[in-house]
Amino acid sequence: MKKLSIISLLLCLCLTVTLVLSACSNSETASTSESDSTEAATVDSAKTDGIDYMALVNKTHPLPENWEDQLETVHMTNSVGDDVEVEKKAYDAYLELKTALEAEDIHVDLDSARRSVADQQRIMDEFTEEYGADYAAKTVAQPGYSEHHTGLALDLYLIIDGKDVVENEDMIVYTDIWAKIHEKLADYGFILRYLDGEEHITGYGYEPWHIRYIDDVDTAKEITSKGITFEEYLGAYTGGDVTVDYGTSEIYTEDELKDAVIQIKCKFAFWGDVDLKSIRYAGDEAVTDENLKWMNELAPDAGYTQVAEFLMGFHTPAEIGELTFNPDADYTNYQWWLARTSDGGWEVVSFGY
Ligand SMILES: [Zn+2]
Repeated sequence: MKKLSIISLLLCLCLTVTLVLSACSNSETASTSESDSTEAATVDSAKTDGIDYMALVNKTHPLPENWEDQLETVHMTNSVGDDVEVEKKAYDAYLELKTALEAEDIHVDLDSARRSVADQQRIMDEFTEEYGADYAAKTVAQPGYSEHHTGLALDLYLIIDGKDVVENEDMIVYTDIWAKIHEKLADYGFILRYLDGEEHITGYGYEPWHIRYIDDVDTAKEITSKGITFEEYLGAYTGGDVTVDYGTSEIYTEDELKDAVIQIKCKFAFWGDVDLKSIRYAGDEAVTDENLKWMNELAPDAGYTQVAEFLMGFHTPAEIGELTFNPDADYTNYQWWLARTSDGGWEVVSFGY
């Protein structure tokens, strides 16, 4: 294989992406938590005991099965007298956030948090009756596909000079106040979920009031500082129409290859406006002892046990940022080398030509 040329090209590319290489480790652990690794089970015990605080629920990812059985919630009454149900830890974190905001004379309350699937159906029916099915489908999440089902999504409202400002169109004008609120979210394990200008990824327009608890301050800070959506962080956004060809492997199951592709997409999510077109498993021929040895040379402490190669096609934007590609060009058969650790999780070890 053309390993030497690959490595030398990779060295410069890797420098630019080193900072983001760790970004998907959390989602990787989550996606492999079903494996029988005792180490993973210990690390993730908090998650396997109850709900997964990193679960993605959006227009294409339904509420995970059995979620409602495992969910522990509390009820509170807000300043306008409504009952609001919130996941327990998310509520504790919200109270801390609220206190911190009050110290800066910013006052918020909870408009709504958890909605059961049945409640969502009722809202959908009401909107359909009042505004028609098209508008309802655009405005209201499909029952089963609302992040509010999780109990971890909170819609805030503002209290300005002692007055409740609850309506979206009234609240949205207070941009300075929202900016101050958003600055504090990550410190308490929250992220802003529907970022401005990212509707093509999140499926929703900008909602400064909709925050999501993920129970991990470091991850929340990472997502916030990168300015990316939760979808991108989790590698769930592929950039539009992407063909994925798992080919035929006698070594890996399709699920195993899917887990590997998630890792590739996760890394790729940081390539800015580069447009992903295709990902293809390069075949069992690349699964050699020699290539495994190469992976372990690149990451001497990783202890990789298996290797796989994928080939990617993508198109670069007209204006190239940090990446060393040609502008407005098609790239094909761009190589991604992944290796598997003893607990079954895939890691992207290198990529390049
Ligand atoms: Zn909301």
